[in-house]
Amino acid sequence: MRNVAILGGGPAGLTAAIYAARANLAPLVIEGAAAGGQLMLTTAVENYPGFEEGILGPELMQAMRKQAERVGAEFVTEDVETVDFRRRPFAITTTSGQQVEARAVIVATGASAKLLGLPGERRLMGRGVSTCATCDGFFFRNRRVIVAGGGDSAMEEALYLGNLAESVTVVHRRDELRASKIMQQRAFAHPKISFLWNTVIDDILGNGVVTGVRLRNVKTDETTERPVDGVFVAIGHVPNTAIFAGQLELDAQGYVVLHERSRTSVEGVFAAGDVHDHTYRQAVTAAGYGCMAAIDAERWLQSQGE
Ligand code: NAP
Repeated sequence: MRNVAILGGGPAGLTAAIYAARANLAPLVIEGAAAGGQLMLTTAVENYPGFEEGILGPELMQAMRKQAERVGAEFVTEDVETVDFRRRPFAITTTSGQQVEARAVIVATGASAKLLGLPGERRLMGRGVSTCATCDGFFFRNRRVIVAGGGDSAMEEALYLGNLAESVTVVHRRDELRASKIMQQRAFAHPKISFLWNTVIDDILGNGVVTGVRLRNVKTDETTERPVDGVFVAIGHVPNTAIFAGQLELDAQGYVVLHERSRTSVEGVFAAGDVHDHTYRQAVTAAGYGCMAAIDAERWLQSQGE
C-alpha cells in the first residue's frame, strides 16, 4: 500500500516524485518500460533553465531520476497494464503482473508524437529528425528544413522555424491543409515557407545526420531526392491514456480533463504534464505541472486524514 503512486517517468512524473518524496509520502514511480519520456528522443536541450550550456535530453532525465531516488522515491521500470480507479485504495497492475495499491495516484503518462514510421526516422531521431521545433529549431538556424503534416501543429512548427531556418518546406499528403484558416494564412504569407502538395516522405536519408529526404508525389508516384538538414515531423500527438478509458474523463482527443487545478474526474487521482496539456508541451511546463500535482495530492491526502 502506497500513499502515492506516480504513473510515468518523464519530467512531470519525476518532478511529482521529488516533491512527494520530500513531503514524506514515499512515492512509487511506475516509470514505464521506456522510462524518461519524450526527452529521451532529443539531443541537446537548451531551454530548460539552470543549464547554461544546455544539457542532453537523456542526461537531464537521468539527473531528475537520480534526484528523485536520492530523496526517497522508488521505481518500477515497467508499463502499467491496468488501473482500477473505481475502488479505494486505487489498484494498479504492471505488465509483469505486479499489484500496487495507492491512496492517491498522479497520472503523468505523457503523450507521444505520431511518427511517419520510416526506417530513417528512428535512426536519425535527434540527429536532424525532430518532433518539436520549439525544442530543436535553434539548431537549424540558416539551414534547410522540411515539416511533415498539414494541421495546426505543422503550421505552428513551420512558422516557428520560419524565423530561424534558411528555408522551410511543408510536405503535405493532400492538396489542402487541415490547419485553421488563420494559421494557413500566416504560413502562406511567410516569405521563407513553401509547400509541396500531394507529397509524402518515403524515407529520410543520412548517415549519422540527416542529409536529405526521398519524396514521392502520391498522384504521379514520381520520387525525387531533396537535400535538407532537418525534418520536423508534425503529424499530431497521441496522449498515452488508453488504459484510463472509461475510468477518467478524457476529451475528444483523449487528453485527461482537469477539473480543479490538477484534479481529474476521480477524487484522489491527479494528472500532470502532456497527458492533459496539449498547449505548451514543454519539459519545463510538464515539470511545473508535476510539482502542482504532488502538492495537490499531499493536501488532498491530508484532508482525508491520511
Ligand atoms: P491534426 O489536426 O490531426 O493534423 C495532423 C496532420 O498530419 C494532418 O494534416 C494529417 O493529414 C497529417 N498526417 C497524419 N498522419 C500522417 C501520415 N502518416 N503521413 C503524412 N501526414 C499525416 O494534428 P495537429 O496539427 O497536431 O493538431 C491537433 C489538434 O490541436 C487540433 O485540434 C489543432 O487545431 C490543435 N492545435 C492548435 C494549435 C493552435 O491553434 N495554435 C496548434 C497545434 C495544435 P490529413 O490532413 O491528410 O489528415
